[in-house]
Amino acid sequence: MPPELTAAREVSVFGDAIAYFNEAAALLDLDPGVRLLLTKPSRQIIFSIPFQRDNGELEVYTGYRVQYNFARGPAKGGIRYHPGVTLDEVTALAFWMTWKCAVVDLPFGGGKGGVTCDPGSLSLKELERITRRYAAELVEVVGPDKDVPAPDVGTTPQIMAWFMDTYSMHVRQHTPGVVTGKPLTIGGSRGRVEATGRGVSLVALAQMAEMDINPKGARIVVQGFGNVGSIAAKMFVERGAKIVGISDVTGGYANGKGIDIAGAVAYAQEHHSLDGYRGGERVTNEALLELSCDVLIPAALEKVLTIENASRIQAKLIVEGANGPTTPEADHVFASRDIIVIPDILANAGGVTVSYFEWVQDRSGYFWKEAEVNERLAEVMHENFKRIREISTQRRVPYRTAAYMIAIDRVVQSMNARGVYA
Ligand code: GLU
Repeated sequence: MPPELTAAREVSVFGDAIAYFNEAAALLDLDPGVRLLLTKPSRQIIFSIPFQRDNGELEVYTGYRVQYNFARGPAKGGIRYHPGVTLDEVTALAFWMTWKCAVVDLPFGGGKGGVTCDPGSLSLKELERITRRYAAELVEVVGPDKDVPAPDVGTTPQIMAWFMDTYSMHVRQHTPGVVTGKPLTIGGSRGRVEATGRGVSLVALAQMAEMDINPKGARIVVQGFGNVGSIAAKMFVERGAKIVGISDVTGGYANGKGIDIAGAVAYAQEHHSLDGYRGGERVTNEALLELSCDVLIPAALEKVLTIENASRIQAKLIVEGANGPTTPEADHVFASRDIIVIPDILANAGGVTVSYFEWVQDRSGYFWKEAEVNERLAEVMHENFKRIREISTQRRVPYRTAAYMIAIDRVVQSMNARGVYA
């Protein structure tokens, strides 16, 4: 693992996530036992994934699935393939999924999985073998009514298709609802690929309206140019905004006149990264975050906005396309500087919302038109953003605390109705 990744992992991601929970929980009248229970994952699974490289060599990777909470329904959340995946990170991500699903009122609990690997260095056949073995290890604990994985960083609709096929073979039953984010031909939903980026742009635009930032000509920086960042960027451009900076693992690219997003997407597709892209001046990833702009969209990994750089961020509004991009210390700096943050558990909930639509469509075997998916997604995002705004105003707390308060309250209501089996 590269040294910078090891260093970044020294501070617990789950520890930071719990800090956010505690801030909101302190404002709710929670039973101490219930509160304690909510800070523990229901189930953490770690297993070895032996797999054969194309050259015949045997290697062993580590796989994870954390099922954090089941109070509101089956666990739900993506599978991450990345060299930095650890149990701590997967637990934090499963924890965030619990609140994310509750914030948009989906009948799901929270889960997350991952494999510590570098998918970019693996052939398609190698990825298929890892995925099938990963799925086979989880056959007993996943399923449409148990735990429903989906794509996350480093995983794709094709990977979901292999997962669904392996599961269906093992249980000897066609089971499209075991995963979401599948290709359309095997029960995927129209609009799912775009859903997270679309949701990010919907809530960003709603907040920009509150702040009198006209989308036409608004200057936006997007950190991370994967599925979430590139699609959010495209949607902002459709509204007349200027994307003044983009980045991926190869670095940042800044252009005050506005980056040609369609061109950058085509470039990234052809070259598998933005390396060598000439549509903007090269800047470091750190400098990109500090560019002058109206809206900053961190859409890559955790912990990029920290106490180190928080005082230099120039955006008026931060919309968290990634999970956990802001550390609690940085969040306090933003609050003191009146920089508004739309938290991950709402901002990027568009993906899991359309995952829910996909699960519903799979169960009924009836598939919706794209316009219907997008309309329902917009309704969910706007309704829950409005609710968070109300609580934020009433209780005089930042959006993140308001979002956690709503989510915790919904989960606790379900727990109370069911009772704790102790
Ligand atoms: N991985 C996405 C997330 O972090 C999507 C999860 C899902 O659709 O289940 O929200």
